[in-house]
Amino acid sequence: MASIPHTCLAAVLPDYGAPLELREVQIPQLEDNAILVKVEMAGICGSDLHIWHGKMGIKAPTPYIMGHETIGRVVALGRGRTHDAAEAPLHIGDRIIWAHADCYECYYCDIVRKPMLCEHRIGYGMAPPEKLMGGFAEYEYVIPRTKVIKIPGSVTEEESIGVACAFRSVVAAFEKLNGIGTGDRVVVQGAGPVGLYSGLLAKESGAGKVIVVGAPAGRLELAKRWGADEVIDIDEHKDAAERLALIRDMTEGRGPELVVEASGYPPAFAEGVEMVQKGGRYLVAGMTSPAEMTFNPFLILAKNLQIIGSGGAIIPHFYKALRFIESRREKYPLDAIVSKKYALEDINQALLDMQSGHEIKPAIDNRGR
Ligand SMILES: [Zn+2]
Ligand SMILES: [Zn+2]
Repeated sequence: MASIPHTCLAAVLPDYGAPLELREVQIPQLEDNAILVKVEMAGICGSDLHIWHGKMGIKAPTPYIMGHETIGRVVALGRGRTHDAAEAPLHIGDRIIWAHADCYECYYCDIVRKPMLCEHRIGYGMAPPEKLMGGFAEYEYVIPRTKVIKIPGSVTEEESIGVACAFRSVVAAFEKLNGIGTGDRVVVQGAGPVGLYSGLLAKESGAGKVIVVGAPAGRLELAKRWGADEVIDIDEHKDAAERLALIRDMTEGRGPELVVEASGYPPAFAEGVEMVQKGGRYLVAGMTSPAEMTFNPFLILAKNLQIIGSGGAIIPHFYKALRFIESRREKYPLDAIVSKKYALEDINQALLDMQSGHEIKPAIDNRGR
């Protein structure tokens, strides 16, 4: 305990759209059931760009420490915090990953039993600097009600950082599908982390053909290494009608049984409804920022479609994602999701490289600190 400093460095968002500033911030006093972690790795999320520019559905007051996908190494455990959510004992030095702090008492937590809709959720990556609840920092404070999961010893930070956001969201979304029909054709719209994990999970869930539609080429290359049978580069095939024709050709003319929206690009919705087979399903998992578009809802009725929305996840999805990684890490290069690592000091460059689409997942790597 003696080695825990009183302050640490954190990248603070001073105002929407402004560069993040490295500031020295206080480390909070440890409460019962809280955890203090040293941040080992913090991923940059596609939604961090919406957050940075104030274009997210929820807009917290600035300043705050961004970063909502973090792997932390336990440096102090509050009294009473002895196990993770799967009942594994917690010790100093363990690496953990955690969910947003839901209340497990409100109507949506208790009656609807969907804590991802919690009305009293306390989110990481949007709290005032003195709370130290963001990943773009040297240390992070995990508040008492947070559910945490230990990362298995064999799994690396690069392999598991996606579990903190994109992969757990995909696991939660696929749970709502209640399975993929054996041999079903699946189109994934988008080749960012949500799209890549969707393609992988579709393949491992019995899909007959997985087609990933996105860009740039490097992401599509990884989609193939993660099991995609076909990829369609939207930089090459810019026209939606052209893409539709290609997909029809790959699916006996009828379109896929399942389309997964993982693009975050509003016009993709109309395209997805158009391409899905009659009687098929459309899983919307990537639309993280509010926007409007024109769309013909008649197609939902005419095609007898099932449209399923999914946003967020809770701790069982983190647990399942980690178990999946543990069992498939020899089969797929799961660490390749982290395309570049940065020092905390270079956080603004990491955000810009995400914005330009150059990197799949930039990550702040504090392991040498
Ligand atoms: Zn995220
Ligand atoms: Zn709640």
